[in-house]
Amino acid sequence: MSIIELDREYIVPTYARFPICLVEGKGSRVKDSEGKEYVDLGTGIAVNGFGIADEEWMEAITAQLGKIQHTSNLYYSEPCAKLAEMMCKKTGMKKVFFSNSGAEANECAIKVARKYGELKKGSQYTTIITQKDSFHGRTLTTLAATGQDVFHKDFLPLTDGFVHAEANNMEDVRRLANENPCCAVMFEVVQGEGGVRPLTQEFLTELEAFAHENDLLLIADEVQTGNGRTGKLYGYMNFGITPDVVSTAKGLGGGLPIGATMLGEKVEDVLGAGMHGSTFGGNPVACAGALSILARLDEAMLEGVKERSDYIFSELSNAKGVVGVSGLGLMIGIECEKPAGEVIDRCRERGVLVIKAKNKVRLLPALNIPMDDLRYAINILKEVCAE
Ligand SMILES: *Cc1c(COP(=O)(O)O)cnc(C)c1O
Repeated sequence: MSIIELDREYIVPTYARFPICLVEGKGSRVKDSEGKEYVDLGTGIAVNGFGIADEEWMEAITAQLGKIQHTSNLYYSEPCAKLAEMMCKKTGMKKVFFSNSGAEANECAIKVARKYGELKKGSQYTTIITQKDSFHGRTLTTLAATGQDVFHKDFLPLTDGFVHAEANNMEDVRRLANENPCCAVMFEVVQGEGGVRPLTQEFLTELEAFAHENDLLLIADEVQTGNGRTGKLYGYMNFGITPDVVSTAKGLGGGLPIGATMLGEKVEDVLGAGMHGSTFGGNPVACAGALSILARLDEAMLEGVKERSDYIFSELSNAKGVVGVSGLGLMIGIECEKPAGEVIDRCRERGVLVIKAKNKVRLLPALNIPMDDLRYAINILKEVCAE
C-alpha cells in the first residue's frame, strides 16, 4: 500500500489531509514522496520557525541527544533550567512551567487562574472570560475555553467555568464580568484559527486596565503568536500590555513538541509542590532545541520578520482577486474572491504550500525565509488569486 493508503486504513480520520506526503526539505523548501518541490509558507502551522532541518537547531538537539534524552522531573536538568531563565530574562516573567503542547500550556494557565481566584477572592471565583472565535486547544477544558461552537458540539459536557465575549467588545467583557464570579480573561492578540484576526490596540489597552481594576488575571495565549511570529518576541509586546500569564508552544521548539506557561509576579507562587506535573514536560532535547531558537530571536531577526511582513502586505493588499489582508508580522490571512480551498489547491499544484483559517488563506512562513523563495511564492499566489 502507498503511504496515503496506509494512513487512510490505520489512522483515525480526524484530519482532512492534503493529498501529498512530505518527506524532506531544507529551509523553506520541502519535497513530497514523488520528488516534487514546494516553497513552504505554512511551516507545519507556525512550528518550524527557522524552516526545515535548520543547521544550528539540529546541532543543539543532536548534542543533547548524545548526552541524555530524558531525565523525568524527579531530577534537575540543565536545558530546561537555562530555557526558563532565558524566557524570563527576555519577557520579565518570573517562572515557567514546561509541558508538551499548546493545549497543555493553556491547561496550566487555567489551573493557575482558578487557584489564584480561590486564594484571592474565594472558591466560587473560577470563571474565565475568553473571546468568541478564539482557539485554545482540543482537551475538554481548552475546548470549553475555545469560543467556537463547532468544536464543542459532539463532546458535551465540557468543563464548566468559561464564558465567551465578542472579540474587541469591552461592553461584552464588562457584562460577563458582572454576571459571573471571574478570575481571569484569556485572549490571543491575533486570533489564528479564528481567521487571523488581530484584537485592537484600544480593546487590549482597556482590557488591561479593566483587569487591573477588578483583579482579573490577564492570560495571553501566545501558542501561535509567540516566539517571533508577529515581529515581536511575543505578540502582546506589540500592544504595550503586560499579561500575568503567557502560554506558548508551536514555534518555541523549532519542530519538537514543547509547551510553556510563563507566570508573572502576581502568580509566580500560586502553584506548589505536587499541584501540577508532566512526564515529558521540560524534556532536555526539546528544551535544547527551544534554547537555540529563542537565543536567535534577537532584534535583527525580528526586523527581518517585519520586512518580510511589509513585503507580503504591500504585494497582496491591492492585488487582483484579493478582497483583504489581515494579521500581524508573518501571521497573515488573505481573503480572496475565490474560495480559500481552491486557492490553496491551485497553489499546491504550482509548488507553493499555504494553509487555511476559516474563509481565509493563511500564510505562516519561516521567520527567516529567503527573500527569493518568498518572492517566488507570493508571485504564484498572486497569479492564482488573479486567475
Ligand atoms: C494551536 C493552538 C493551540 C493548541 O495547541 P496544540 O499544540 O495543538 O495543543 C492553542 N492555542 C492557540 C492560539 C493555537 O494556535
